[in-house]
This record gives sequence, C-alpha cells and structure tokens, in this order.
Amino acid sequence: MSRVLKNGDNQITEGYSNTHEAVDLVRYKNKTDFIVAHSNGRVVFVQTGFKNEKGSTGNRSYGNCVKIEHKDGYTTLYAHLSEVYVKKGQIVKQGQVIGKMGDSGNAYGVHLHFELRKEGKRINPTPYLNADLPSSSISCTYRVWDNKQQEWLPKVENVTTYAGNFGHSIGGFQMITEGGGVTKIKAHVLGEGWLEEVVDGAFGNGNNHYAGIKGKAMDGIAIWSQYGDATYRVHIKNGRWLPWISGKYDIKNSNGYAGILGQEMDAIQVYIK
Ligand SMILES: [Zn+2]
Repeated sequence: MSRVLKNGDNQITEGYSNTHEAVDLVRYKNKTDFIVAHSNGRVVFVQTGFKNEKGSTGNRSYGNCVKIEHKDGYTTLYAHLSEVYVKKGQIVKQGQVIGKMGDSGNAYGVHLHFELRKEGKRINPTPYLNADLPSSSISCTYRVWDNKQQEWLPKVENVTTYAGNFGHSIGGFQMITEGGGVTKIKAHVLGEGWLEEVVDGAFGNGNNHYAGIKGKAMDGIAIWSQYGDATYRVHIKNGRWLPWISGKYDIKNSNGYAGILGQEMDAIQVYIK
C-alpha cells in the first residue's frame, strides 16, 4: 500500500539522491492514479494551469502541484499533477484525494514527484512512503488574543494550523503542553518593550496567565518548554512567516526569539520536539 497513491503500489522510477531530493513514483505504463494526502495537514501552496514543459526550472518544473504542511514542521509536495482538487488553506485528512498523477511541468512521462521537507529542508521520503511521519511525543496547545475582535481565538494544537487572524495584531499568548509541564513565555509589546516573564501551564484569565497586553500589538515572543525544544515562528502582519526558532529563549539575541521588533505579528505556530 502507498500513502500517496490511491490505488497503486510505490513503484519508484527515480530514487532520492543529492541531485534528486525526492522520489518519483509511477503506476505502470503511463497509467495514471489519484494522489492522496500523506498525512493530516493544511494545504499551503497550490500551482495550477501548467502543461508539460520539459526543461522548465524552479517552481515551473513542478507543473501543477500541491504542498501540504503537517505537524512538527514537516511538509510534503506532490508535483507534475494533471488535476488539482484542493485549494490553498484547505485542511486535508490522510488519504484524502488531492489531485491526479500527470506529466505537467518538467516531466518525461506520467509520474508523481514526491518531496518531504523538515523545516524547509528536503529529506529522504522513501522510509515514509507507507509509514507515518516521525512524531514528537509531546503536543502543545495554544491560543492568541485577537486585538481587533477583542477575544481569545480558538485553541490550536501543534502546527496543522496556526493561532491568529491574518491582518489582526496579537495582544496575548497562552500555551500548555501535554502532561502540564511548565511553559515560560516572554513577550515584546510595541511601545512597551519586553514584559515580565510569564511562567504557567494553564489557560487562566488573570494577567499572570498570559504573555502580552490585551489591546496592544505584540512584535516579539520567546517560548520555553520544560518538555523539549519549543519550536516556533510568527507571521508578520500582512506579511510572511519568519524562520522557525528552535530551542532558543534569549531576548538579548535577535536569533533567540521570534519576531522583528517594530513589526506587529498576526499569527503564531508552535510545536515541541
Ligand atoms: Zn522527480
């Protein structure tokens, strides 16, 4: 059984190497197949409208493709599709059909080009063609205060989605880890500087239970977990995701926290590894 082809087995025509950081899978004799999501996640990139284009480079070489973000910083990418059935932002379940195998982009025949990335870096997907992604055993749950809506947004777990509303500044952040380990949080608020460290493991409402100041925009955050390396990133308001910060909790060093001071954030993602 394959975790990415609906009907076929994992018949590899080109394996993983330094020059091909992916695996190519075929059905047989140019027969097509439906492509399914490897694991639960969220579609973060979709490219459509491509025909076969041998010799193309960069993102064009993928042709029609889908990229899905999973927990723990993993993403999967499915390229050369003939049809795409999902949209950017859509939540997908393991085994859900997301497209159809094809030869769009730089392809020499009908096949699936499948990539696996961990925090953006391509890794060998072969061991996971019919297995779960490696899993960290500790999960975390967190939420943010939406300054525009003046409320706590729904709690989210790990990184299948994110906490925040794009375009709305964040006024507070709370997090708990599975098992109740201690979480330490330092928040930087625009016009206020770094606030006192919050040490907690609950979703209480008192001021000492969350980091931030409701109604004021947060622009930097550092997170520490008793149970492992807190790995986190923030989204700049109306902008982009900044790089992941992993196992760092140092407000004196711009690489030791997430955010760019002076720029409001509107979303946060966290997992523990
Ligand atoms: Zn390939």
